Amino acid sequence: MIGPAGALAAYDIVFLDRDGTINVREEGGYVAAAESVVLLPGAGEAIARLNAAGIPVVVVTNQRGLATGRVTWEQFAAVSAALDVALAAHGAHLDHTAVCPHDHDSCNCRKPLDGLFRQVLAAEPWAQPERCALVGDMPTDTAPARGLGMRAFQLGVDVPDLAGAVEILLGA
Ligand SMILES: [Mg+2]
Ligand SMILES: [Zn+2]
Repeated sequence: MIGPAGALAAYDIVFLDRDGTINVREEGGYVAAAESVVLLPGAGEAIARLNAAGIPVVVVTNQRGLATGRVTWEQFAAVSAALDVALAAHGAHLDHTAVCPHDHDSCNCRKPLDGLFRQVLAAEPWAQPERCALVGDMPTDTAPARGLGMRAFQLGVDVPDLAGAVEILLGA
């Protein structure tokens, strides 16, 4: 359990894609080493603002490399730990990470399918999808969120970056 959100929080959960949204996306799409974790400009501060607003922040990430062997679970854990350290330097933290470790066409949770979102919503029944939001860098991120009734922002299309999305979400 991660929640519930603070009583006055504007959103129940803000879902974030990881690679290309919080941290720089590697060539080929695989962030497999701790030293490859580089925060995008303003991302740490943006997540710290969500934390300060009492809104749970949940990462939803496709990691097909775990299925193909390009990324081991040990590497995934190391990358997650490095991301936590990088965010902590900005006073920011993630409340939960939901990962799809499956290959194409073999599950119901690889985005653009909505299984990762549904898993989190099922575990956190106080969270209403229409009181949740998603920020991602791909249409495959926004499609499942919008399908569930969430507000969603695609970086480079709806907003320039995560900081811009958070600015809108917090109404500042
Ligand atoms: Mg991405
Ligand atoms: Zn999956």
